[in-house]
Amino acid sequence: MNTLIKDITVLTMGEEREPIKDTNIYIEGNEIKYIGELKEEFRVDKVIDGKRKVALPGLINGHTHIGMSLLRNYADDLPLHDWLTQKIWPVEAKLIGKDVYWGSMLSIVEMIRSGITCFADMYFFMEEVGKAIEESGIRGVLSRGTIEEDDEKLNKEKIEYTRDLYKNWHGKANNRIKVMVAPHAPYTCSPDYLKELIALADELNAGIHIHLSETKKEVDDSFEEHEKSPIKHVYDLGLFKRPTLAAHCVHVSSEDIEILKKNNVQVVNNPTSNLKLASGFAPVEEMLNKGVNVALGTDGSSSNNNLNMFEEMHLASIINKAVNKSATSIPAIKALEMATINGGKALFWDDEIGSLEVGKKADLILVDMDKPHFYPIHNIVSALAYSAQASDVETVIVNGRIIMEDYYIKTVDEERIIFETEKIGKDLVNR
Ligand SMILES: [Zn+2]
Repeated sequence: MNTLIKDITVLTMGEEREPIKDTNIYIEGNEIKYIGELKEEFRVDKVIDGKRKVALPGLINGHTHIGMSLLRNYADDLPLHDWLTQKIWPVEAKLIGKDVYWGSMLSIVEMIRSGITCFADMYFFMEEVGKAIEESGIRGVLSRGTIEEDDEKLNKEKIEYTRDLYKNWHGKANNRIKVMVAPHAPYTCSPDYLKELIALADELNAGIHIHLSETKKEVDDSFEEHEKSPIKHVYDLGLFKRPTLAAHCVHVSSEDIEILKKNNVQVVNNPTSNLKLASGFAPVEEMLNKGVNVALGTDGSSSNNNLNMFEEMHLASIINKAVNKSATSIPAIKALEMATINGGKALFWDDEIGSLEVGKKADLILVDMDKPHFYPIHNIVSALAYSAQASDVETVIVNGRIIMEDYYIKTVDEERIIFETEKIGKDLVNR
């Protein structure tokens, strides 16, 4: 289907960082074909009126665990270690595939409603997440969070699982799905197991998705055990020879940042999660200044407790100002870059997504600017980074397909998803 969005303001996040006013976007099939003056030769099936709206690249959630929506508001106000070991992991041990399917569907609906068109997920029963991506029309990166157990057989099975996941899902859903290998973290996988997972990524020619240097405790423990930081530790094991998506990188030294830069490691900052779990403040500005690409993520909705990239943009900007004691730190446009083009790069997908440019895939959102909290509209970039709410997203297009129009999600049954997840969520914690 070919879609024309008429009379729209566009923030492309390509070469251009200034909004283009009163223009038109022509989408042919799944691709952005043209941005500019109307032309006779367009073969249009569908016209969207863009007046009083802004088109942005779909937001990219660089790190999340979408099945965890079932545990939203289940365990709060606890330190990371206690939260994981006492609350989350025991319940997660009881999860079955069906739970993850519905939890993922709930998160996908929430993400579509808040303008997220692509996400990098790390969880289990990933084929269920694959199905949810296929049905909903969103785009995503799948990875099975791999934690080493005391049982050799289980550890081998986990490796087999990711090999099958890659074979069955990489490139599926019209190339809307990619698969990565995901050692959960250096503190949940031994050096030998990490090496096996790196070898698997080599074999599949896949990227790696991992949590790194999230808390001070993790870094202190790593120095005690390996006499080096988690980043130096995995670097020495050869992990960064693979394209790597590293969530958090909160407690990083100058030497760590140098390693990240030299190895083109993609960092995902998760401001809400780091605040809520009291993990600390990632040196985002320093990493960006030193040439490290930093994207944004929500983390799972039980450590957030929502999947709202507008909130993450807002926080990324204002936290860094406060922490760096500099009001110029992470200006509005940088926050928008982190949520769009930097996300595309972080997922090694910027040849197709992350900006609105001719030849890229049509992943875009329309934000309804006709709301009191936007007026007077002095500066569109500031309005989007500082004033916008997730609920201002009116229309969402992924791979050229309109998956939400005028606040209505067209691809899945939202009411049923809410009904099922309410039931499953209650049942899960009582199992
Ligand atoms: Zn995480």
